[in-house]
Amino acid sequence: MELTPDFDLSPFNTLGLASKARYGAVISARDEIGELMAFAASAGLPLHIVGGGSNLVLRDDLEAVVGVMAIKGRTIERRDDGSALVTAKAGEDWSQFVAWTVSEGLRGLENLAGIPGTVGAAPIQNIGAYGVELAERLESLTVLDTQDGKERRFTPDECKFSYRQSLFKQLRGRFIVTEATFALPRAWAPVLTYPGLDSLPRDADASVIMERVLTLRASKLPDWRVIGNVGSFFHNPVVRPEMADAITGGPRYPQPDGTVKLSAAWLIDACGLKGHRHGQAGIYEGHALIVVNHGGATYREVSELSAKVSGAVEERFGVTLTREPIEL
Ligand SMILES: Cc1cc2nc3c(=O)[nH]c(=O)nc-3n(C[C@H](O)[C@H](O)[C@H](O)COP(=O)(O)OP(=O)(O)OC[C@H]3O[C@@H](n4cnc5c(N)ncnc54)[C@H](O)[C@@H]3O)c2cc1C
Repeated sequence: MELTPDFDLSPFNTLGLASKARYGAVISARDEIGELMAFAASAGLPLHIVGGGSNLVLRDDLEAVVGVMAIKGRTIERRDDGSALVTAKAGEDWSQFVAWTVSEGLRGLENLAGIPGTVGAAPIQNIGAYGVELAERLESLTVLDTQDGKERRFTPDECKFSYRQSLFKQLRGRFIVTEATFALPRAWAPVLTYPGLDSLPRDADASVIMERVLTLRASKLPDWRVIGNVGSFFHNPVVRPEMADAITGGPRYPQPDGTVKLSAAWLIDACGLKGHRHGQAGIYEGHALIVVNHGGATYREVSELSAKVSGAVEERFGVTLTREPIEL
């Protein structure tokens, strides 16, 4: 493993911010994690693991050691009943992993196709899209505990998953995910509830659903390779029903516990901020939930824009927006 001082993180974040870390290395084998942990401890610096950088807002200079997770490998354990356990190492590309499971005739991950990033980062915020969350398909996670350097295995219950949340997001940096196993059962029913999928035939196959998901995503989200972004920048806020009632217009999604989920995109749009620019950072013209880099945007511009958007929504609707991407 090669440790590089002043490690350039520009190629490792989809928002395209210029950023560097005191030290960095690409991790291609499990033993290298231990080496990196030891080096960070001896240098008195925190260790941050990054995957595809598709959920990160990076400061200009990180006083840290950064490890880019690139451990590859995937296996299928087929069972007699037609179900399978599929395991992938943390550095596998999530979207390619999903496409591979579908090409192997396995069903269950197709709604999560096209989400950028790595397998190892997917559990951190319990990725979700088109009516399915990772938590519903996960069998177990293998992690390294940075407190004692030991390997541990987590069941989905132990991961404390909820909407874009997990134990790993709460205890940020404590556990390094090294591999994830998914249970893809034979008794599978397509999830077609989400608008855009609801026009598919009830017996649509996983490959058909995946293609539709990829088409829908391409029509709604800007390609980060063309215009830097991290997907949704704010969580959809969940509020008390009285608060939701006080807002006229916009979608409302009643939750089982009586609270109501609102659309952050609608709230931002209603504040007239769709397409708004702050320096080279901006709110995407086509979708108010997406912060984009028009070219050369800085960490400061993104942070100021984010504060401006949250401030406007708070002032107009009394609703507090929280940010989805993680700041390093
Ligand atoms: C265009 C676009 C669309 C998106 N659409 C969706 C969507 O539909 N649904 C959704 O949920 N998300 C979406 N996202 C967000 C993002 O793709 C996911 O959060 C993804 O899981 C991040 O993976 P990553 O490898 O890029 O993680 P990174 O951004 O590199 O890291 C994210 C966090 O995970 C930690 N981390 C990374 N790897 C590990 C590891 N191996 N062990 C421990 N911690 C680790 C990092 O330290 C950081 O805290 C989208 C992003 C973009 C750019």
